[in-house]
Amino acid sequence: MDDLARFCCQNTACADYGKRNAGNLTVCDRFGKREPIRLLYCRTCKKRFSERKGTPLFASKLPRAKLVSVLEHVAEGCGVRSTSRLAKVHRDTVSHYIRAAGDHAQQLHDELVGFSPLDPGSPVRRKVGLRRAKAKALPGR
Ligand SMILES: [Zn+2]
Repeated sequence: MDDLARFCCQNTACADYGKRNAGNLTVCDRFGKREPIRLLYCRTCKKRFSERKGTPLFASKLPRAKLVSVLEHVAEGCGVRSTSRLAKVHRDTVSHYIRAAGDHAQQLHDELVGFSPLDPGSPVRRKVGLRRAKAKALPGR
């Protein structure tokens, strides 16, 4: 049995679009020359899509291990040119996957993080504001 809890329908017109673990997905096929990629089927909208759709791995020509290596180097703070030299890929390839991973990370952040501490109306920001106001009210400190 395949674990599909992390996946959601990628069809923007579907009623279950973006809903993880909604029970609407099944594995209908596998494809791929180097490594098997699951083809997912949505029972709600009757569409099929790759399990990699919406991720930097989708339609990637790099092997998965090399792409992961590129993104690990970038995550550790390596620049585009140094990542290019270390992973032995062209610098435009590094830039392409940085953009793809950034878009995916932004979508995941928006989904998983309920509020941003930089939001002035957020509870964390209000607490910090209260502490600063108390500190100002006590002149002896
Ligand atoms: Zn669907």
